[in-house]
Amino acid sequence: MRKSACCAAILLSAVFAAGLSGCANGGKERTKYTLSASYDCDSQTLTAEMTADVIPSFETDTLEFQLWANAYREGAKYRPVSELFSDSAYYDGESFGAIAVKSVEGAQSFEIAGEDENILAVKFASPLAAGAHAAVTVNFEVRLAKVNHRLGVTESGVNLSGFYPVLCATEQGAFKECVYSSNGDPFVSEIADYDVTLTVPEKYELITGFPAQESETDGKRTYHVRAEGVRDIAFVLGEGYQCAAGEEGGVPVSYYYKTDSDPQLALDAACRSLAFYGEKFGTYEYPAYTVVETGFVYGGMEFPALSMIATDLTAVETPVVVAHETAHQWWYSMVGSNQYDCAWQDEGLAEFSCALFLDKYPEYGMTYRDFVTQSERAYRAFYSVTSQLDGEADTTMNRALVAYSGEYEYRNIAYDKGVILFDRVLGVTGEKKFMRALKNYHGDFSGKIATYDDLVGSFEGAGANVRALFASFVEGKCVI
Ligand SMILES: [Zn+2]
Repeated sequence: MRKSACCAAILLSAVFAAGLSGCANGGKERTKYTLSASYDCDSQTLTAEMTADVIPSFETDTLEFQLWANAYREGAKYRPVSELFSDSAYYDGESFGAIAVKSVEGAQSFEIAGEDENILAVKFASPLAAGAHAAVTVNFEVRLAKVNHRLGVTESGVNLSGFYPVLCATEQGAFKECVYSSNGDPFVSEIADYDVTLTVPEKYELITGFPAQESETDGKRTYHVRAEGVRDIAFVLGEGYQCAAGEEGGVPVSYYYKTDSDPQLALDAACRSLAFYGEKFGTYEYPAYTVVETGFVYGGMEFPALSMIATDLTAVETPVVVAHETAHQWWYSMVGSNQYDCAWQDEGLAEFSCALFLDKYPEYGMTYRDFVTQSERAYRAFYSVTSQLDGEADTTMNRALVAYSGEYEYRNIAYDKGVILFDRVLGVTGEKKFMRALKNYHGDFSGKIATYDDLVGSFEGAGANVRALFASFVEGKCVI
């Protein structure tokens, strides 16, 4: 293992990381997760205790938490990987994981609920008042599947995301329950504060987007990570990582890699895209940014201050994937949205932002116009094939991830049609109003979950009358 001085400094120098400011979510008090977990690599099991200090925004006698780890269990109805990608994801054949909740203290009772055992429902003897604190301590065990995915023992290490029960987002005075989906990212979460202690075998290094304090005892390493005002927190455990380190506008940028023969390519794309989006959309609000090469079945995955990119990317794909995932720092991590019902709102915008970025760097081989043209070609081919096969194509954009027929339809609606939508909006508004709208969108909704109306309203606030244009795309009425 070789670490540059810069990377080591990030790991050891600080123990506290502020993400979004305390009032970034409108001054609301946030949920705080205090989590202590230990990973055993022989049994591929994480044993954990988590205290969640929750402040419900409505009166309720039940708190609901998403159990994302249960999607990996045998018999799950909504599996994390589709048939199409199963062979590359499950590299060692069929494999299952699960989360077992052992106990919940601080409440009357609990049950595993939801459509697909995806919800931990914690019940109280009497209703909690809106705005009152409720602390519950959950003891749980997560068995990891062997899978190149968001949570699992991968071919290169261990990906740890969505391993803990996370409070469901609030929507219209109730908890929003989401099932997993192999289409897109089914996670809708509000920003929270995290205090995480992870103990891992000595051979592993923990890679995170946030500063970590490290100590070693009894052949194990313990990492303490704190992050405030973040939408999620994720880690990668691995052996033999190297780190290429850079810096952009005072933000340390690290690229952890194992097999990449040209690490500068990914590091440069990370630094450049961080600078580009910062200038166009508004300030990057985390203390550091980390990209890590890891076993992952789809090109990359975004988490606050951390992007995972797959180990098998080509030199052509790497800058595009890094630029897309980095755009999600704005359109997911800082500005949240309902990724379950309106996936295009962050995916389309991340993809469109990537097109703008690539246009500035001809060495990446794709201009803005190339990118849009490619999206148009893909979308028109999808429309033609689907119309012929099914008689008509459903081109509506606001629908649940599980309502898509599969990855092909999802990709064309959320990504390609999303890019085309933002290109058409840019054509109507002109660059000045368009960029003002996205700056307003970032400024007004960082730390929050922005609705479709909030996005359109940001354009209207910039003086662009594009509501009907958005509607024609989203409702599937426009001809492309
Ligand atoms: Zn994305």
